[in-house]
Amino acid sequence: MIPRLETHEPIETKASSFLQALAVSGFSGEIASDDATRAVLSTDNSIYQIMPQAVVFPRDHDDVVRLTRVAHEHPEVTLYPRGGGTGTNAQSLGHGVIVDTSRHMNAILEINIEERWARVQCGAVKDHLNAQIREHGLFFAPDLSTSNRATIGGMINTDASGQGSVQYGKTRDHVLGLRAVLLSGETLETSVLSDAALDALPENSTEGRIGRKLRDLFDTNREAIDAGFPKLNRCLTGYDLKHVRTEDGQIDLNSVLCGSEGTLAFITEAKINLELLPTEVSLVAVQYGSFMDALLDAQELMTHGATSIETVDSKVLNLAMNDFVWDSVSAYFPSGSQTLQGINLVEFTDFDAEALASKVERFSQHLHAVAASGGRSFAHTIARGRSQVNQIWAMRKRAVGLLGGVKSAKKPVAFVEDTCVPPENLAAFIGEFREVLDAHSLDYGMFGHVDAGVLHVRPALDLKDPDSLPMIRTITDQVVELTKKYHGLLWGEHGKGVRSEYAPLFFGELYPAICSVKALFDPENRLNPGKIAGPTPDTALLRIDEVPLRGTRDRRIASELVQQASTALVCNGNGACHNYDPDDRMCPSWKATRDRRHSPKGRAGLMREWVTRLSDAGVTTLPTPSIGAELAGYPMKMYRTLRMKSGRYDFSHEVYEAMSGCLACKSCTGQCPIKVSVPTFRSQFLSAYYSRYARPVKDWIVGTLEYVLPFAAQVPALYNAVVRSSLGASVFKYLGLVDSPTLSGIDPHRAIADAGFRVASLTELEEMSQSDPGRFARQVVVVQDAFTSYFETQVVLDLFHVLHRLGFEPSLMPFSANGKPLHVHGFLSWFKLLATKNAARLNRLAELQVPLVGVDPSMTLTYRSEYQEAGIETPDVLLMQDFLATRLLPGAVPTVLPVKKYRLFAHCTEATNAKESLQPWQTIFALAGHQLSIESVGCCGMAGTFGHERDNLALSKTIYTQSWAPKVDAQDTDRGEILATGYSCRSQVKRFSDQAIKHPISALREVLGDA
Ligand SMILES: Cc1cc2nc3c(=O)[nH]c(=O)nc-3n(C[C@H](O)[C@H](O)[C@H](O)COP(=O)(O)OP(=O)(O)OC[C@H]3O[C@@H](n4cnc5c(N)ncnc54)[C@H](O)[C@@H]3O)c2cc1C
Ligand code: SF4
Ligand code: SF4
Repeated sequence: MIPRLETHEPIETKASSFLQALAVSGFSGEIASDDATRAVLSTDNSIYQIMPQAVVFPRDHDDVVRLTRVAHEHPEVTLYPRGGGTGTNAQSLGHGVIVDTSRHMNAILEINIEERWARVQCGAVKDHLNAQIREHGLFFAPDLSTSNRATIGGMINTDASGQGSVQYGKTRDHVLGLRAVLLSGETLETSVLSDAALDALPENSTEGRIGRKLRDLFDTNREAIDAGFPKLNRCLTGYDLKHVRTEDGQIDLNSVLCGSEGTLAFITEAKINLELLPTEVSLVAVQYGSFMDALLDAQELMTHGATSIETVDSKVLNLAMNDFVWDSVSAYFPSGSQTLQGINLVEFTDFDAEALASKVERFSQHLHAVAASGGRSFAHTIARGRSQVNQIWAMRKRAVGLLGGVKSAKKPVAFVEDTCVPPENLAAFIGEFREVLDAHSLDYGMFGHVDAGVLHVRPALDLKDPDSLPMIRTITDQVVELTKKYHGLLWGEHGKGVRSEYAPLFFGELYPAICSVKALFDPENRLNPGKIAGPTPDTALLRIDEVPLRGTRDRRIASELVQQASTALVCNGNGACHNYDPDDRMCPSWKATRDRRHSPKGRAGLMREWVTRLSDAGVTTLPTPSIGAELAGYPMKMYRTLRMKSGRYDFSHEVYEAMSGCLACKSCTGQCPIKVSVPTFRSQFLSAYYSRYARPVKDWIVGTLEYVLPFAAQVPALYNAVVRSSLGASVFKYLGLVDSPTLSGIDPHRAIADAGFRVASLTELEEMSQSDPGRFARQVVVVQDAFTSYFETQVVLDLFHVLHRLGFEPSLMPFSANGKPLHVHGFLSWFKLLATKNAARLNRLAELQVPLVGVDPSMTLTYRSEYQEAGIETPDVLLMQDFLATRLLPGAVPTVLPVKKYRLFAHCTEATNAKESLQPWQTIFALAGHQLSIESVGCCGMAGTFGHERDNLALSKTIYTQSWAPKVDAQDTDRGEILATGYSCRSQVKRFSDQAIKHPISALREVLGDA
């Protein structure tokens, strides 16, 4: 049994009194001082971890004003603004109070199409804005790899940029005005003003006071600024004195706030410029035999009028090649006689199709000539149009994430990841950079924006190794020297954060002027202190090796627990699971709650914290009690559970709360670039948690459902009457379950027999394999699952008819529980017993080499996923479409019906863990003469029995409303009839939209007709 983790992470008195005062100040957002929320927000994408005192979530500008006014009265409290938390250098981490603006302050307030600007709250996500303005031919131009989760407030504060920066500049180039709150509680509205307008501002106005001081600072230090600030496309983050005066001599009050990393003020709203979205786009993928050739060629490529040039080395490329993402782009990288070791991706855009075509054609001819003369590049391919080009950019973005997923204790980590030098120096600089890394025998992958001279390099280190910290210091110092030598910057893209210790060295004599900016806004050094600059030159800044490393904490975890916490420990915090898009499957519980504890990153962080605390308490292994052991200790478990309900603290309860909101949809398992799989460690957690506490009755009902259904199916009328009756529903609700589905009314084995098919018999199949090989070749065994078989028996029948129609002789494998519900609810030892038994049955059939085909995708995929994780080898049980698509021959099934359109809404687990299995449905429908498109859709909110659990009902409904409901309720039959592969998805549609949608196999049966 696990022990009670009774100790709270302490909160300093000064922070508690601040929080108490805030609670009665009229502050309308949430105030969270629980250990779980603090632990989740103690990390970003950096190598560091700092536990804050609390986290607050303001609702609007006025809340931020209230917050700062209260803070004014509590001078010892420090505040740390936070957006999406995707910083790579601990920018938003700190020991004080985190102010998370992303949860509530994320609205797009106003869009002016004519004048091409938008007004947004600081927590709005860039891709969300762009999705809204795309139809007007506009976009917010600064690009960054984290565009689906980074906030515009965060972008402004790091002065973010990325691909296309040579054409479109950085975020600061698109900021028209800001609304900010100073720590004094004053609101500051910034814009670009003439000298006269600035002079005309009242003496005591915040804008006048700050604006005039900034102007003086600029005018007095003009020469030093000119000499000290690098002449780079990427200019500089924090504090950008160089742009206080615009080229036409006006005063730009936005300039120093852009890139200030939350050290000067809270930005609450921004008015930003929108660009015209080029209508025409092409991308040329230029191939090289060495990465240095790709770098050396970049300068020349830039003379051909491209919008952007990105480079990727062979390491990153190889990762992409081994990922599903390669399927969508492999045509652009055909294998030839030469080995591909580097690429430059050269994008051309225009508003005129002909102009673009001739630009690309000229470039292509040039490249042909280069290749023919044995020049640097040896081949190229061209992607044309937005959709093709986006596929290549998506591969580039994903490949970068994949770097973090390498299977080794040494993981690529960010600390010198965004150096920038003048592009003409890039190749020489990188040559020396590589020598530094090679000298320390470090592995690394490289990619970046060669047009802007920015290269991303993440050396691989095992942060649990005590030697890694000195290595970080050594490498950083050497790279700083190199960037100085080549007239560049250490922080070319991601901001300074803890690397601010190099700012005095970088600015030299100008550093006191930089400190004056901090003193002007935050004289007491309470906003994100230790970063960018202090109010005086002698104020201490954070040092890269003095901030606690995540890896240092991980050293405390017992080795067995490291294994049992599985992928939780490899999460690097890149935040890909925090994407805003409701039509993306990752992660429904985060999207519906906007609580980061309820995201893969949050859950991974909590699992990591939990095993650390367990290790501190002397636990060396997590218990996985047998059913006997679970039941034997029940009275004591009940007692502990009652004490928990009366408020007895245990950190495990905080972890439990986060885990219980997980739908086990497995989108993280399939989509996380690092392969963090919450359902895997969640069931390990639940198994251990229930070694101490009593399981709710509904877990027993759901866990045993697969065993009960075959018996219930013998008396379907009785079962259904109970479920339908108000008394039955009330009892189920009391026990924790709602809207229980009713049985089809016929036992699947009987239904199959009635339809003229048979139940599979091993002996019969064995005999047939010897006596009648011809007939045996037509055999297919259908592996049933409890949900489809008993609640939607017709789908199983439809599969039989389709198989028969196509010339197969299907038979039904006698029913046996699959075990997925047991796994989901953490009955791990029971699951293992059942899975072992099942595997033996399946293996006996597979030895005959008869194909095994599953019905429900999620249940079928359990054999390749949860079974394998438990170390139980099973044969391949095919998804039905994978089987059909390879057996269906063109022209084999002429259809007599007019061509029909369908839209496939795939189950989350299938769409994210067997992505390659969606397209076969298109093949099948096309062969049958019909059209099927694959819909981008989020989670339906049901996920097995999750949506039937009383406590999850509201969450399940919210998730359904976000992506499925608008599409289903639109009844857009012109776009095609909706088909859904998941049993749970179909029952969710029935429940909330009162529509019966078909499984694709049922639609196929209609199309084909029976034989
Ligand atoms: C995989 C990966 C790829 C990346 N690629 C790029 C890239 O291509 N280009 C790029 O520029 N960056 C990149 N980054 C870095 C990061 O995404 C950017 O710095 C981004 O702008 C941060 O936005 P955020 O909302 O996550 O801000 P956070 O990380 O939460 O905060 C960043 C800084 O802004 C401050 N801040 C946030 N909101 C406010 C506010 N309302 N008021 C005052 N201060 C505030 C914080 O205090 C902090 O100092 C990448 C990061 C990762 C993990
Ligand atoms: S769970 Fe995966 S996607 Fe989410 S932050 Fe961690 S590594 Fe990134
Ligand atoms: S399984 Fe689904 S709900 Fe759970 S963390 Fe992963 S993506 Fe989120």
